[in-house]
Amino acid sequence: MRDERDRMADLVITDHLTGLPNRAGLEQYIERLMRAREGGAPLFSLAVLDIDHFKAINDTFGHDIGDRILVWLSERLAQYLRDGDLVARVGGEEFVIVMPWAQAKQAQKVVERVRANIGKGRVPVTDGQTIAVTVSAGLGEQRPGEAFGELFRRVDTALYAAKHAGRDQTHLAGPDA
Ligand code: GH3
Ligand code: MG
Ligand code: MG
Repeated sequence: MRDERDRMADLVITDHLTGLPNRAGLEQYIERLMRAREGGAPLFSLAVLDIDHFKAINDTFGHDIGDRILVWLSERLAQYLRDGDLVARVGGEEFVIVMPWAQAKQAQKVVERVRANIGKGRVPVTDGQTIAVTVSAGLGEQRPGEAFGELFRRVDTALYAAKHAGRDQTHLAGPDA
């Protein structure tokens, strides 16, 4: 039986709006992943996805609709992931996907599929009106011995480049971004 303490611990690592792990949940998962790795064994890929022009969506349709979009998006993100992959909500409109044992090439396929699926979807907003939501993504593969924070920084730089290049696209992290 799970006791009260377990439930409290779950609350701390869960984002209440979407039910996804939050930043603390992500950190816990990464710690476990790092511990599970043996020697120079398999690495993982990391993607950071950020909704395009979300502020404008909020400003146009209201914060409640914005929240609904976050929930809609989180469901779509979870749809394509394999067992062992993790999707977390790490900021307001920023999501992270961790794909253990996936090299950048495989991870890119996953992220492109997810992104295409999101872009094709229509989210109901008001009075039968629906809108399209797009996301930009940065993606990278962990280098041997690379700390999570360092990988995150590289991937974040790639995300910034994707935004700068016009949004609604995925950029691969360079080695020393
Ligand atoms: P960009 O394409 O460059 O990412 O533009 P953006 O507008 O998405 O980015 P910006 O960082 O300027 O704005 C993020 C917005 O996300 C602002 C904030 O109101 C909204 N936001 C953050 N958290 C939440 C939330 O929990 N619910 C809702 N509805 N909006 C949120
Ligand atoms: Mg953002
Ligand atoms: Mg954004």
